[in-house]
This record gives sequence, structure tokens and C-alpha cells, in this order.
Amino acid sequence: MNNFDFYNPTRIVFGDKTIAKLDELLAKDAKVLLLYGGQSAKKTGTLDEVKAALGQRQVAEFGGIEPNPTYETLIKAVEMIKAQSFDFLLAVGGGSVIDGTKFIAAAACFDDEKDPWSILENYGTNITQALPFGSVLTLPATGSEMNNGGVVTHKGKHAKLPFRSPLVYPQFSILDPTKTYTLPERQIANGVVDAFVHTVEQYLTYPVEGMIQDRFAEGILQTLIEVGPKALAEPNNYDVRANLMWSATMALNGLIGAGVPQDWATHMVGHELTAMHGIDHARTLAIVLPGMLQIRKESKAAKLKQYAQRVWHITEGSDDEMIDQAIAKTEEFFQQMGIGTRLSDYDLDEATIEPLTEQLKAHGMVALGENNDVTPEISANVLKLRI
Ligand code: NAP
Ligand code: FE
Repeated sequence: MNNFDFYNPTRIVFGDKTIAKLDELLAKDAKVLLLYGGQSAKKTGTLDEVKAALGQRQVAEFGGIEPNPTYETLIKAVEMIKAQSFDFLLAVGGGSVIDGTKFIAAAACFDDEKDPWSILENYGTNITQALPFGSVLTLPATGSEMNNGGVVTHKGKHAKLPFRSPLVYPQFSILDPTKTYTLPERQIANGVVDAFVHTVEQYLTYPVEGMIQDRFAEGILQTLIEVGPKALAEPNNYDVRANLMWSATMALNGLIGAGVPQDWATHMVGHELTAMHGIDHARTLAIVLPGMLQIRKESKAAKLKQYAQRVWHITEGSDDEMIDQAIAKTEEFFQQMGIGTRLSDYDLDEATIEPLTEQLKAHGMVALGENNDVTPEISANVLKLRI
């Protein structure tokens, strides 16, 4: 196992009717800015429930944070905070609202002389301060509710870049599985696939005898395989939604990635597909992952075999055959969730690959993966397998 320093200060308050706990989690005199997305938090009544829980506190609102939150929108919230000063930010929504809030929290404290987009250009390393914030999660998928990362899109620059900083962990996150009942099938499917790929990116790397991390990761993958289809078939099944929600959080809160190599090449290529073609984040991952595993089969062979045996219970055939079957099962699972796994499912063809490779180069994504050996040429070859 590799050395590691595991730190996660986010308090998780989990369960039915836990939004009422906001009253205990926030200072009585806190001046709060509520941040949310398009319409869902209003339509579902979650925003009203949050406001009721905040009682007599001073509360203002900033809505309209879009899926794949944009710098152009987020910067308006930063201006609002600079003009009105708030003690605490409260994100109500999915990964996009929480990621956006992380950026806003850091950008509001950023050097006035500098453009906060430089936070993304420096992957968050230049964040020196951030406002405290918490979240009420409405979409299980990204793990943003319990991690220190975010992804922001610059529409003008056609760029979607990640950042992270120990200063942008949520102070707390409220996870009420009943708040996911209103999610459309498409978002449930996206959430399951995103959480699955987060786990794979930390698990399917070369083995370093991280036995605990492996078993945790295999537990999350098996749970997602079990509850994913049920979450679509039984939208009001509390236990299914609760297990999905906790799986997605556990998939990306640092625990399974501590002390083991991490890949993330699939995510970085996927981000370019979203930035260029607007495909949902999880769908880009479903396109890229099977090709990424296929092309990097050799360096990942030992773990792929373990994945085949322990996660998919494949026991017959040569090592190579078992690995091929496991990759095929992975793709079938995404399809079973109703997600297209080919570029052609999104009306894209070979012509998309070269410009995308240029974007990877422009964003410095030239040595991806746990061994830094995924060049733009390899990423292009991955995509060629996915037409
Ligand atoms: P999302 O973009 O936050 O939300 C997707 C859609 O779901 C929105 O249209 C939203 O509608 C709707 N929605 C949310 N909750 C709902 C509910 N309870 N009922 C009905 N509709 C609801 O989706 P996400 O998958 O959670 O986040 C994706 C973003 O996170 C991407 O930008 C991705 O790159 C990023 N990401 C971050 C991390 C990380 O570690 N921080 C990891 C992976 C991905 P409204 O807008 O109307 O509310
Ligand atoms: Fe993701």
C-alpha cells in the first residue's frame, strides 16, 4: 500500500427529514446565501423546506446555476457576495450546484486584482481562503457533497477544467434519500454511472496490495450493480435510494482512493466531450471507459482479472477472455441503465476525434492515467474504438 494522508472534515447528516437539522448546523445569526440550479429545487419544494428550517436567519438566494456550471454564471454570485457579504453559503442541488458553490466560495475570497478563472488554470493550487459552505444534496452522483473537488466550464473558452483544494470541503452535507424521488430516470442513470466510474478510476489501477481499499471499492461497485436498475424500476423505494446515495458519496470522498494509484484519464477525456458537444458528464464516461480499459489492458491486467472475478463473478476462460468479458459486462451495465455507450449514439463520428485531441493538448491533458502514459494519441485511439 502507498503512503497516504487521509483528511475529510465533512459532516454527513443522513436520512429522511434531516433538512430540519439545518437549524442545529448553522449559527443562529448567520447571514446565508442559498444557491440552487434551474427549477427543480423550487418545483419539488426542497428550497421551501430549507428556508423553513433556516427560520429567522437572514437569507438571500442565487438561482440559475446550470448543469456543468459555467464561470460566466458563477461570477455573478461572486459579485453579489462581494457587494452584500455573507457568512455562509448553502448549496441546494446536485454536483453542479455544489461544485459551483465551491468555486464561488473560493473566488469570493480571491485576490481582487486577478481573474478567478486562474483558480481553474492552476487546478485550485492558488486558493488561499474560501467562505464556509454546506450542502443539501438532491442528486446522488458526484460525491461533491463530501470531497474537495469541483469542475467548472468556461463557455467563452470552450473549457471544462477541474480544481481541488483542502479549503473547499463542505462543512456539512445533508443527504435525504427521499429528495431523490423526483429525479428523472436520465439523472438516476447518470448518477449510477458516474459513481461507478469514480470507483473504477481508483480501483482498476496496478495493484499495491491495498486490500481494504479494494474490498471497499468492490463493495461499492457491487452495490451499484444491484441497486442501479432497481432505482429506475422502483423510484420510491427508500432503501434502494439510500444505498445509491451513500454509494455515490463513498465512491468519491477520498476513502477508497487513499494509498492506491488513481487513474482519472476517462474523466479528463470525458470533460472534453462535454465541453465540445454538451453530452451529460456520466454519458461521456460510459463512452470512454470501455475503450480506455481495452487499450490499457496490459498495464491493468492484474486488477482487471480481479475485477472480472470478484465483481462480475467470471470464472471461466483464459485471463484475457475473463478481462474481455468483464469489460463487455461493464458496457452492458451502462446500457442496462439506458445510457448510450458509443459516440454514434450521440450523433458523433470520427470527425470529432482530432479537434478533441487538440483540446486535450491545449488543456495540458497530455500524460494522463496512473502511470502518466496516456498521451493524446492514446486518447484518440480510445475514441476510435468508441465510434
Ligand atoms: P447536476 O448537473 O447537478 O444536475 C442535473 C440535473 O438534475 C439538473 O437539470 C437539475 O435540475 C436536476 N435535478 C437535481 N436534483 C433534482 C431532483 N431532486 N429532482 C429533479 N431534478 C433534479 O448533476 P450531477 O450529475 O450531480 O453533477 C454533474 C456535474 O458534476 C458535472 O459538471 C460534473 O463534471 C461534475 N462532477 C463533479 C465531481 C466532483 O467530485 N466534484 C465529480 C464528478 C462530476 P435543476 O437545475 O433544475 O435543479
Ligand atoms: Fe464524475
